[in-house]
Amino acid sequence: MTDEGAREQAVGHLRRLAAEGVWALRTPASIATGAPSVPAPGADREDVATVAMTLDEVAAASSGCELCKLSEHRTNVVFGVGDPAARIMFIGEGPGRDEDLQGEQFVGAAGQLLNKILAAMGLAREDVYIANTVKCRPPNNRNPEPDELMACRPYLLQQVELIKPEVIVVLGRVAMQAVLNTDAALGRMRGRLHDWNGIPIVCTYHPAYLLRTPEDKGKTWDDMQLVMQHLGLAQR
Ligand code: URA
Repeated sequence: MTDEGAREQAVGHLRRLAAEGVWALRTPASIATGAPSVPAPGADREDVATVAMTLDEVAAASSGCELCKLSEHRTNVVFGVGDPAARIMFIGEGPGRDEDLQGEQFVGAAGQLLNKILAAMGLAREDVYIANTVKCRPPNNRNPEPDELMACRPYLLQQVELIKPEVIVVLGRVAMQAVLNTDAALGRMRGRLHDWNGIPIVCTYHPAYLLRTPEDKGKTWDDMQLVMQHLGLAQR
């Protein structure tokens, strides 16, 4: 899909949500300070209702979401887990079978490895916030499709705006390409900080890939060092 097509979809989606009174591009904090909020790509703010929502309210709104076909097969909407005031936010691709059943991100084998990576950084799951590009499981763990990513994107943008992480880590090519709206290869994007709507973002390998390709674990560790350096955390 072209950028323009994606924008039109996102704007249309936000308009529909606004008409239902369940969506907002602005939060209490950004309304209070007048700070600009994170917009959907190309969203025209004047066409979108301003409704203050908390993270819990956005999660509650998402729990009945039927904005894309992934809603037809899901057991649970897997919205996000962790500290709502986290300094680091991880963004994965989408829930797998275990996550769909349990309603929580990264609880399967890939999640065990993510927990180990966090532990090596001196962190626990409770210290970070973990979300996915889509909140419902794609059938048979296929990649999320462009219309599903666009339908779910406002939820992700709202999570980012409310959590205000100091750094975002995107896990894997699919999530990276979706979040940054790029066709670039992960290997060319990892290893340095990028800017995404004013937030530093690091792209690294998905833990599921690292389970299949353990020889690349060192590169992900290098990427995590970048994150720790950026946050002033003790290097390990
Ligand atoms: N893979 C992901 O990208 N996200 C999860 O939540 C689980 C596995």
